[in-house]
Amino acid sequence: MYRCLLICLIGLVPLHANSQKALSDYKAEKISQHVYVIHGPKEMPNPENRGFMNNPAFIVADKGVIIVDPGSTEEVGQMVLNNIKAVTSKPVTHVFNTHIHGDHWLSNDAIKQVFPGITVMADPRMIKKAKAGDAQSWIDLLDRLTEGASQGTEIMYPGKAVTNNDQFKIHNFTFKIYTAGKGHSDSDIMIEFVEDSVLFTGDNVTYQRVVRLDDGGFRDNITACDIAINLNLKHYVPGHGPTGSVDIVKQQKSYLDTLYKKVSQYYDQGQQDFEMKPKVAESLKAFKDWSGFDEQLGKHISLAILEIEQAGFE
Ligand SMILES: [Zn+2]
Repeated sequence: MYRCLLICLIGLVPLHANSQKALSDYKAEKISQHVYVIHGPKEMPNPENRGFMNNPAFIVADKGVIIVDPGSTEEVGQMVLNNIKAVTSKPVTHVFNTHIHGDHWLSNDAIKQVFPGITVMADPRMIKKAKAGDAQSWIDLLDRLTEGASQGTEIMYPGKAVTNNDQFKIHNFTFKIYTAGKGHSDSDIMIEFVEDSVLFTGDNVTYQRVVRLDDGGFRDNITACDIAINLNLKHYVPGHGPTGSVDIVKQQKSYLDTLYKKVSQYYDQGQQDFEMKPKVAESLKAFKDWSGFDEQLGKHISLAILEIEQAGFE
């Protein structure tokens, strides 16, 4: 009875309104001549979205397919492979992982199960954190949040480190790597795919979704946005939310910049976080409908205060 009531209530409350789609309903969208993006749901991992929440992308080159952030679980990885199969019969040969957060990369193993020879690339900080225990923490967190839907997901660590200013060819295409200090997670790379004028920003940029900044830094994340803006490319694929023009990067920068400047100003006036919160919220009202705004704002203010205090000692 109680269980039924709970299920009925959950049914009525549109907690996960955008996640009602089955995983198999997510289809890759072509955003440039060779790039496809599967835009994931904006909610946190939950039983309905099966732990899927990022933007897996793939590039079809002459001799193989390159994936950027294959997703969070074994099942999500299989969905990504199904999407690739619908577009091309070429094998997956390379995978980029933009950063340490497990919603972006724990599907590596699902790709390796089908294409054992893949080269998986990430920032050396990401590989180190993953091996130091972050990978297992993310497996456990996803298991908890999805109530077991992510079970069966195995860790496959990236094997090749790539870092700031690296430039290399994969098949017939050129890639450049950018990093900016701690950025979003102290492990981020942004990947430029030169021929199609595309930047994969990882979570340095998210659009219509306010992101966690627990492991990053406001000033470094703003620097990452500046790097992305100055590249002046045609397409920007954010870590979460719709792909767009450079405008989506400018919006991300505006959120971070406004928040950090306002908090600095009120901090200098001796105000406490709870006193400044309504005023900071007012300055950020353009973002109030973004997913995660209410959950993250208080935390972002506290994190900004910590960073301001730290900066005082630099
Ligand atoms: Zn992230």
